[in-house]
Amino acid sequence: MSNSVKDRSIIVTGSARGIGEAIARGLALEGARLTIADINEADAKGVAKSIADGGGRAIGIGVDVTKRASIKAMIAATVSEFGRLDVMFNNAGIAQVRPFLDITEDDWHRVMDVNGLGGLIGIQEAVRQMIAQGGGGKIINTASIAGRQGYEPLAHYSASKFSVVALTQAAARAFGQHKINVNAICPGVVATDMWKLIDKGFKDEGLTKRDNEAFEDFSAEILLGRPSIASDLIGISQFLASAGSDYVTGQSIVVDGGMMLI
Ligand code: NAD
Repeated sequence: MSNSVKDRSIIVTGSARGIGEAIARGLALEGARLTIADINEADAKGVAKSIADGGGRAIGIGVDVTKRASIKAMIAATVSEFGRLDVMFNNAGIAQVRPFLDITEDDWHRVMDVNGLGGLIGIQEAVRQMIAQGGGGKIINTASIAGRQGYEPLAHYSASKFSVVALTQAAARAFGQHKINVNAICPGVVATDMWKLIDKGFKDEGLTKRDNEAFEDFSAEILLGRPSIASDLIGISQFLASAGSDYVTGQSIVVDGGMMLI
């Protein structure tokens, strides 16, 4: 079975930068048709333009994954442009470093809204579109190793990522009958703006001492000896978006350089 994603219509949310951008660019290079969707509409359009300028196929649109109407509009724009939706990649997410006792109700709601509720609505609306097309399709959710173990000082973020793993398993059970595969990727410690670090050199940029300490504490545990970079997530994403993974569903696949050994 081929791992080709050529001509597949794929939405990646949160793809104006970071992990989502790297995955979207990687899939576009393999011939997929991409919707670059992000709350930062200007940067989403910029990424799409740069893919198109390089000979790929992409549109860029604004989306707020916490709003159902916005998700529906994103899917409608994709279907209008590419004719169908083959792969929905619910990647948008936010993180917050907070000592356990400092987490407020507002912190909890903010993180759960984007990572948990955003994932739920993204899966629901993608499934509706895939069933309307006659069934079949791939849903990929970005969870985290923090969705497999509770981490400090990231308790509410961990809870939100456990919810992504739970949604992945429940949706796989619910929609297998429609030949819709639902899987998650669980990155480890990835050097992106989420950690307020500059990719490559890992230099500080307005980094709080607490963010920096957390990043370095986690990075010390990695068997492969370096923090991840966003492009480490492209290979697994291509596999999960392709026919090669047609018999894989309900899985949350850890891609962490051997940090967890699970
Ligand atoms: P990032 O902050 O660089 O990128 C996240 C993107 O999501 C941004 O472009 C942002 O504008 C967008 N976004 C935020 N809220 C949104 C909303 N409501 N609607 C639409 N778009 C929204 O972060 P990243 O490191 O690339 O993280 C991507 C995903 O990977 C997240 O789900 C994150 O939790 C997960 N993750 C990251 C790491 C890491 O170490 N960086 C590790 C494990 C999992």
